[in-house]
Amino acid sequence: MKTLIRNGRVALDGRIQSLDVLVEGERIAAVGAIEAASADRVIEAAGCYVLPGFIDFHTHVDDQIGPFYLADTYESATRVGLENGVTTLCTFVTQETGETLLTAMARARAKAEGRSHSDVLWHLTPTTFSPADIGSLRTLVHAGYHTLKLYTTYKKAGIYASYDRIEALFQSLGHLGTQFLIHCEDDELIEAVDASGLDLSKPISHARLRPEAAEVVAIERVAGLAIAHQAAMHVVHVSTLEGARHLVANRGRGDLSFETCPQYLFLDESWLARADGHRWLCSPPLRSDRAPFLELIRQGAADIIATDHCPFCSRDKDSWDGQDLRAVPNGMPGLGSLPHVTWKIWEDDPDRAALGLSTHVSLNPARRAGLGDRKGSLKPGLDADVVVLDPRGPERPLHSTLSTTHEAFPGFTTSLSLRHVLLRGETRVRDGQLTQPGTPTGRLLQPAPSIPPLT
Ligand SMILES: [Zn+2]
Repeated sequence: MKTLIRNGRVALDGRIQSLDVLVEGERIAAVGAIEAASADRVIEAAGCYVLPGFIDFHTHVDDQIGPFYLADTYESATRVGLENGVTTLCTFVTQETGETLLTAMARARAKAEGRSHSDVLWHLTPTTFSPADIGSLRTLVHAGYHTLKLYTTYKKAGIYASYDRIEALFQSLGHLGTQFLIHCEDDELIEAVDASGLDLSKPISHARLRPEAAEVVAIERVAGLAIAHQAAMHVVHVSTLEGARHLVANRGRGDLSFETCPQYLFLDESWLARADGHRWLCSPPLRSDRAPFLELIRQGAADIIATDHCPFCSRDKDSWDGQDLRAVPNGMPGLGSLPHVTWKIWEDDPDRAALGLSTHVSLNPARRAGLGDRKGSLKPGLDADVVVLDPRGPERPLHSTLSTTHEAFPGFTTSLSLRHVLLRGETRVRDGQLTQPGTPTGRLLQPAPSIPPLT
């Protein structure tokens, strides 16, 4: 089966060009001026952008965080993702207390396999570090699980890794090609904040409990360690101008990258001052003075734009008794909004916005995830994950998820329409709707090392 996508504005080699894209089977076959006679079917893309499938590098789905279960399953998350062009969902497998990482992976596999509409890639979050744990991490990295997530905070939740621990992991696993994804907020600095002077019934106090300095200090510490040990490091959800500038300034000294999220660009801490401000609690918190940060990101400073989609059920967010904001689960949805809100960074220049998506939401996340030889661009030989994006409307509200949770971007609208989304050559979405909602065809992208069966 050959499909020709013709007359579109195609993102290729860092430019937008008017070209045709030929898909054969699961792969991109050719890009250029191509005769329609060579294809079995033709998708007319005049007036549309033709982009590589999007990759949300940072999501949490189908998982329990503290006492709360997230609102999205693999089925519902990959549905809203794919309907908005996300052909690869990256999400986390976190080792729980008393279990091995392999057992956690078996749990996740049982939830994801056969239920995912998009492809899925796992980042692994180890939480214990015995010699046996390190041995199995080494095996997993060798087997193709390249991305490990570490936290410089959340000691009480049991997922904290000290700077010494992080340095030891850089030394023991860095040379294997491990990509370290790090949540940077300095735990000591957060613990040192005097909460006695804060009104904890006011969600805005969250921003004081987790100050900007905590992020900046942690970024400086781990970047220094990564440079010293030549470890590949990616900082997740950077929210501060100073943190972002530090990473940009040190980029040439090592393999450093970072992501930011739409909420840190388009929502500021005034959202926390609303009567329902607890719904916008996330960590790092929403910040003030977003204009200079947005301007830095407009210039292309962030390698990746990802959502940190973490959708708690409305009833769980709203079960808060209004006393101490630290009881509210931290996180908000974003997956379904990813291309739309990212577009707004450059919305005065549609070609630049389309290029921004192809760079920061396709190419760079594919490379950081170790998928650069399969996904992230429209080069011949790569998976035919293709988005045909129409910027001409109609205008409609954003839906970050279809699950029962609060919308992170209420009142925001988009004029982008997802005319076609191809997953490995098959049209899975037409005009923003799954073509076969009962038939999920997403794959788990990594090989299966000896994950024990669930008992
Ligand atoms: Zn996260």
